[in-house]
Amino acid sequence: MENIKVHRILIAEDEPKIGLFVQQELISQGYETDLANSGAKAIELYNQHKYSIIILDINLGDMSGIQICRSFRENDIHVPVIMLTAMGDMNDKILAFESGADDYVVKPFHISELLARIKVFLKRSEGNTGIEEILKVKDLEINISNKMVSRNGANINLTMREFALLLLLCKNKGHAISKKEILLKVWGLDFETGTNTVEVYINFLRNKVDRHFSSKLIRTKTGFGYYISEE
Ligand code: CA
Repeated sequence: MENIKVHRILIAEDEPKIGLFVQQELISQGYETDLANSGAKAIELYNQHKYSIIILDINLGDMSGIQICRSFRENDIHVPVIMLTAMGDMNDKILAFESGADDYVVKPFHISELLARIKVFLKRSEGNTGIEEILKVKDLEINISNKMVSRNGANINLTMREFALLLLLCKNKGHAISKKEILLKVWGLDFETGTNTVEVYINFLRNKVDRHFSSKLIRTKTGFGYYISEE
């Protein structure tokens, strides 16, 4: 038992057909699953079990997935969230990211697409290969192998998306990255969203990385983008 980690996945979906289908597919892949048919049930289950991932429908009838995801992040809960959004609704995707979701899948989706996304997140969370790759910017340390971040020795908890953003900036330290490039590299979005997704996440990062320190690492290049400064 000790080397085998069985991942437990919460599926929050109020349409029984979709929920049961996803659940059966995940079970056939060897995952443990729980199915919640409402937002209230999802929160109840979340409070009882530890999940590797949450598949969260954007509209659960009694509550929106956006609302639930936002409250997770506000309470410093970093479980990966894959949001199920409505077809073609760009606002849904943007809202999903702004609420702190790590990824989204558009309905109707092919199950293989959802499974592939799940595997990406599980692989990232297992990540540790024993070889430690550490990136340093002044007193900020990013352990790329196990996704741990610390500043001046104190751990900083980041969501996967925040981690990806910080890593992008640190790998290019001293060089400003445009908002457009950030959207592409961190969110995989190759268009301007017309909203402030990047600004919102930069603020999240600043709160976690810079707020308690007198020297600020994350800098703004006005009208362009952001960079990490070692000065
Ligand atoms: Ca729904």
